[in-house]
Amino acid sequence: MSDTYREMWRELNMDLEKHDVFLGTLPVAFGEVFLRQENRPAGMAYFDNALAEAHGGRIQEILAGKKAGRMVAGTFCVFAPEELIFAVDGISIGLCGGAQFTVPTGEQVLPRNLCPLIKSAMGFKLDRICPYFQAVDFLIGETTCDGKKKTWEILNEYVPTYVMELPQKKGTADLTLWEGEIHRLKEEIEHRSGREITADRLASGIKMANARRDALARLYRARWADPVPISGKDALLISQLAFFDDPERFTAQVNSLCDELEDRIARGEGVARKGAPRILVTGTPMALPYWKLHHLVETSGAVIVGEETCTGTRYFAGRVAEDGRTVEEQVKDLARRLTAINCACFTPNKERVEDILRLVRDARADGVIYFSLQFCQPFGVEGRLVERALQEAGVPVLRLESDYSEEDVAQLKTRIEAFLEMIAS
Ligand code: SF4
Ligand code: SF4
Repeated sequence: MSDTYREMWRELNMDLEKHDVFLGTLPVAFGEVFLRQENRPAGMAYFDNALAEAHGGRIQEILAGKKAGRMVAGTFCVFAPEELIFAVDGISIGLCGGAQFTVPTGEQVLPRNLCPLIKSAMGFKLDRICPYFQAVDFLIGETTCDGKKKTWEILNEYVPTYVMELPQKKGTADLTLWEGEIHRLKEEIEHRSGREITADRLASGIKMANARRDALARLYRARWADPVPISGKDALLISQLAFFDDPERFTAQVNSLCDELEDRIARGEGVARKGAPRILVTGTPMALPYWKLHHLVETSGAVIVGEETCTGTRYFAGRVAEDGRTVEEQVKDLARRLTAINCACFTPNKERVEDILRLVRDARADGVIYFSLQFCQPFGVEGRLVERALQEAGVPVLRLESDYSEEDVAQLKTRIEAFLEMIAS
């Protein structure tokens, strides 16, 4: 890493020694998981570089933005209305943690029996090895699962953490509550950025977020082809980078990659043989740099053709109407996303089952892997209903629970291979 970057990290008060150890593990993992794949689309070069520069060039950009007066906000959930951040020309960064490296530190202040996504995120802050956590002006948390909700109180001791009350149901009163929460966040953002959110500015923010959603939806549609033109691992990496990259540049790059993928589809070219077993993954989000499940599946002869997760279809669900004329109307439109994103934190949540069955059909999946991070109660409990619905529809389903460690890799691989054999027979 260049001296310029080291100086930048020092100024961000990062623990340089620990950070070196953390970064040192990534090139090996990246090479093993991504660079060994055959026939990757040329357009992946941009995303490989975005990952390589995630702690370097992208941080330089963000710090330059801060110097120019741009607000930087960290988020933890796809319900955080990024449109409000974009409306004040702010920078939005998704900070869920996906690395085992920081879990032990997270466990110093959080119970061990909490999901690794939360412990990893907390550990990144306590270890001071995440330049994004060091650069943010404030965090936007939400009341989704109990683990996250209570974590904000501790995280607030280290970084100012604003909490939105996300309803757990989707009735009229819940929509009204959420609309009020969006109005309150709007005031907070105006106060922090020193900029008023006008209808014109919010319209631009909505368009920017929608354009990114449209590009990701296009990418996911390309994966429905057989042979599939891009691996699940590469698609997952792109979704993970959506939380960090400049949204306009990211959208342009995803669309350009989609041009390439659509050409591949027209030529019948893919990254796996036509007829390779096709798997849909559903469940908890997979934050950067968590690639374990995808790597295991795709080195066992199958391809992942979609993810019904918040690093998958739930991220781009709920396109916001663009014809709101006043801020009041626009906030109502933003609030309506509540009904379109079917997270296990809601009850009842039968629309998620419908989403999964639709995706199985669209992506022509041969089977579903229901993946739950260890100690995730919402997705763990909801697994039974989803499993039963899939069985009733005649769709093979495998339920897996795991964490960020490598300890269960052999066991997972055995179960995945047995599942794929069962599908093939
Ligand atoms: S899984 Fe639920 S709580 Fe987590 S990011 Fe998605 S919507 Fe938010
Ligand atoms: S994975 Fe589950 S437990 Fe973890 S933050 Fe998301 S909803 Fe909460």
